[in-house]
Amino acid sequence: MIEYKQTICPYCSCGCGIYLVIEDGKIIGQEPQNEHPINEGGNCPKGRNAYQFLYSEDRLKTPLIRKNGELVQSTWDEVFELITSKLKEAEPNEFGLLASGKNTNEDAYVQQKFTRVVMKTNNVEYCGRLCHSSTAAGLGPTVGSGVMPISQMDIEKTDCIFLVGINLKETFPLMAKRAMRAKAKGAKIIVMDPRKTITARELGDIHLQLEAGTDVLVLNSLMKIILENELEDKEFIESRTTGIEALREHLTSLDLQEMSKISSVSLKDLNKTARMLAKAKTCCVIYNQGLNQHTTGTDGIKALATLALIIGQYGRPGTGLCPTRGQINGEGTGDMGCLNVFYPGFQRVGTPAEPHIKFGELWGVENLPAEPGLPYTKMIQQTKYMWIIGTNPMMAAPDVDRVRESLEAKELLIVQDIYLTETAQLADIVLPVSTWVEREGVHAYVDRRVQKINKLVEPPGDAKPDWWVVCQVANRMGFKDKFDFSSPSEILDEIRKVVPPYRGITYERLENTLGGIQWPCPSEDHPGTSTFFTEKFNTPDGLGHLQVIEYKPPAELPDKAYPYILSTGRSIFHYHTGTMSRRTPKLDAEVPINYCQVNPKDAAAKNITDGCKITLSTRRGSIEAKARLTDDVPKGFVFLPFHFSESCANKITNPVLDPSCGMPEYKVCSVNIEVVK
Ligand code: SF4
Repeated sequence: MIEYKQTICPYCSCGCGIYLVIEDGKIIGQEPQNEHPINEGGNCPKGRNAYQFLYSEDRLKTPLIRKNGELVQSTWDEVFELITSKLKEAEPNEFGLLASGKNTNEDAYVQQKFTRVVMKTNNVEYCGRLCHSSTAAGLGPTVGSGVMPISQMDIEKTDCIFLVGINLKETFPLMAKRAMRAKAKGAKIIVMDPRKTITARELGDIHLQLEAGTDVLVLNSLMKIILENELEDKEFIESRTTGIEALREHLTSLDLQEMSKISSVSLKDLNKTARMLAKAKTCCVIYNQGLNQHTTGTDGIKALATLALIIGQYGRPGTGLCPTRGQINGEGTGDMGCLNVFYPGFQRVGTPAEPHIKFGELWGVENLPAEPGLPYTKMIQQTKYMWIIGTNPMMAAPDVDRVRESLEAKELLIVQDIYLTETAQLADIVLPVSTWVEREGVHAYVDRRVQKINKLVEPPGDAKPDWWVVCQVANRMGFKDKFDFSSPSEILDEIRKVVPPYRGITYERLENTLGGIQWPCPSEDHPGTSTFFTEKFNTPDGLGHLQVIEYKPPAELPDKAYPYILSTGRSIFHYHTGTMSRRTPKLDAEVPINYCQVNPKDAAAKNITDGCKITLSTRRGSIEAKARLTDDVPKGFVFLPFHFSESCANKITNPVLDPSCGMPEYKVCSVNIEVVK
């Protein structure tokens, strides 16, 4: 029998609806969902090829255990016995758990609860550390919250869109569609990016093609022009912000000509942009990794939020800073507390709210950890026992050769995933799990929109849901009463009790609300919240705090040995570390091998021709990729996607971190390029 079943695309956090065509329990095709409010029938290439990865021949079907150096088939009982006996030996600070932005909220919730209740540590993190930790660190002190403050639908209602460090057309195609609709109605679009991306070429009215890592200089320049020409929103500044005097004094001391020279953004473009931003009635600022992934990412976000505040672009539909989370549940995994400093609901450790005491009472346990845990990269280096779930640091973390050394040295490395990823290949124990439509649960998408995924097909072999695996270990370690869940709906019931913004969100409501519900949703009769900060910000005094930011250059700049800047990023046809998209034949056929964008002038100087193989070398090591000659990158700058294990970009990226949040500087390091002889 053939059935059509509705679900949500498993890739980015837009959350587009699709129909799966299922025959006798197997997915055989798919259709876009015309009536879904996010995509209205449109899907990008990944969304049009959403399900094939489920049927890859190398799906994990049984638990594996390392014996005599080899991973061999095992049973759930055997692996649970070994995990339990080993973890009982671990001191709290010796254990760490890495969660995934691809898990459901229910999975993420039990993962952080296990870490805190059973292992008594806050050493729990997820891949959000590597993409939006600077958002939390930058927006927390400025406006009090790092979430998208509007609905993604509002993008098309704006009359100005400022895209900062984001190639919207490739990374969030359905959001780009809304920006295109706004443009068709007359909105102006400004793109700030060192590359002349397809977004800059096709959407931008102005392209601020800055030198990589000079974001703060450009943003300070724009603010200086706005304040010195009295283009600011005086009423908004007066009623809703604090810190204007210090900001004005700082900007007055800066030399506009000098900033323009260092950033390579002309005074003409700076002046035009400042006026365009200041005159807009409704301006939305969308940003992503091009701003975040620097040692100064937090500074850049603070400066960008300050710019939005002085032009009064916060607190109404279609305004504010919109961080764009790449993973399907990048928002929800953070909401659930898979971060070393946040209990569920972003309740920060070490604050007067004392979340360890509050959650101790809610969960009925004593001695919950009160100190921050280790951040992602330090957890990999410093723990002895690690449980890595649905994430692949052997591709995603910077300087992966050092990551390998750390993981190989573990007393116990457990990896829970759907394939034998590059990280799973190093594990002592591998746990096979179900994914996407093989289990049920909820995700929170980019604009806090919670949608439900239903179980539509069976997982392969003996693969189990992530939440079940963690609960089984917790139960065997003596915490049965705290992890006595028999279904994800029971977990959501507990989430609703302890995370107030989720209180009104139930499976029943989600099943009857196409497009989901945006949290905060404090009660079952509440419609959800589209716009944040309408009357006050989430800071302690309710005001937006204007930030004074000094420019600091990137940690590693070109020199004689490594004369080019390397920046890494994504392709529209692939997803993160490629685990899903590279197992999807149609997507992999589009871009089957890694490529490096090189400016034709640099190529000529090095005898590099289009399509030839080149070596990229940094202080960390070397990899090879195919040269793609293009004016999209400026002279002295090369760009490399990070989806390819055989040409692993993060073998050569710089592991230096933003001191405010632990974000690696993926967007700038120095590199040399040579033709492979
Ligand atoms: Fe899927 Fe995102 Fe593409 Fe929509 S925009 S189809 S959610 S990958």
